[in-house]
Amino acid sequence: MPNFCRQLGTFIAGIVNALSSQVHSNDARKSLINCVNSIWNTISDNISTVTGIPFCIHSRRGIGGGCINNASVVQDRGRAYFVKLNDADKLDMFTAESAGLEEIAKSGTIRVPQPVCCGVADSTAYIVMEFITSGNARNNSYVIFGQLLADMHRVIHQNFGWHIDNTIGSTSQVNTRSDNWINFWRDYRLGYQLELAARNGYAREIQARGDRLLQQFTVFFTGYIPTPSLLHGDLWSGNYAFDAQGNPYIFDPAVYYGDREADIAMTELFGGFPTQFYRAYDDAFPLDNGYAIRKKLYNLYHVLNHLNLFGAGYLAQARRMIDGLLSETG
Ligand code: ADP
Repeated sequence: MPNFCRQLGTFIAGIVNALSSQVHSNDARKSLINCVNSIWNTISDNISTVTGIPFCIHSRRGIGGGCINNASVVQDRGRAYFVKLNDADKLDMFTAESAGLEEIAKSGTIRVPQPVCCGVADSTAYIVMEFITSGNARNNSYVIFGQLLADMHRVIHQNFGWHIDNTIGSTSQVNTRSDNWINFWRDYRLGYQLELAARNGYAREIQARGDRLLQQFTVFFTGYIPTPSLLHGDLWSGNYAFDAQGNPYIFDPAVYYGDREADIAMTELFGGFPTQFYRAYDDAFPLDNGYAIRKKLYNLYHVLNHLNLFGAGYLAQARRMIDGLLSETG
């Protein structure tokens, strides 16, 4: 999700600060601090159990840049882990993120943080994964990125979708398996977001034209047969980085198997990646000529999701995109 999305605020630290100012008795303060400590103790215990090596948090530091969760790095004297926290009812979101990281990791292509564990501690859901120290891109980092993403996209499944649903931002993303990409995109991507938009109060502005698009967009697939490729699913510039050696890694995925053009389209949605990346990807795994038009169809999903998450600021863009696509259906 882009960096201009809402900062939802610091989580544990914020709760402690906010509540501390209202909690006047020492006993209440102590119990609040104990609660926070107990969350981190539970997380440490789980890391110890899963890794088989005792882990005791020696330091903890907040990390910015995310849009949805409160993120920190926790360290003992030898190891570091990246931890995200949210409300307990977000456990499924973290379980799906963990499964997504695992799915990409087992493709043996581009690097992702290795997931460690997730769970709930004192009404707080958490996910723990490998902490990757970030570094700068080197001369050929974007070339490697393009090639590795192409390798990941060559990993295919027999159906579109995935074995579990996940989230895009904090919106549910339906991954019901389908052997028909057009139906999948209509029902579980565009149709789902359009319906949500109608429920969020934008029916008058976009429902009729959205419905028309749902009926007509099949023309963009004439002569093109998408393959169910392993996708990151939310590949904007805030969801990749380079490690200390300058090698790319991707994180915060919304994994499913789908048309690889959907991943490439999203890289272009908020400003685009450097040219080297696209050249390397296209050399490794050339894109079809019809990508230019389908790109808009794929990015409409994310713009509608932004409309649903962040409000009317995205309405004009969503309408423009729908109208533009409708005008190309002939
Ligand atoms: P959110 O789910 O809130 O969007 P992200 O997963 O995007 O959070 O993570 C927030 C920030 O933390 C990222 O922008 C990135 O800079 C950093 N980050 C994410 N994963 C890791 C990791 N495994 N190791 C180190 N830093 C990470």
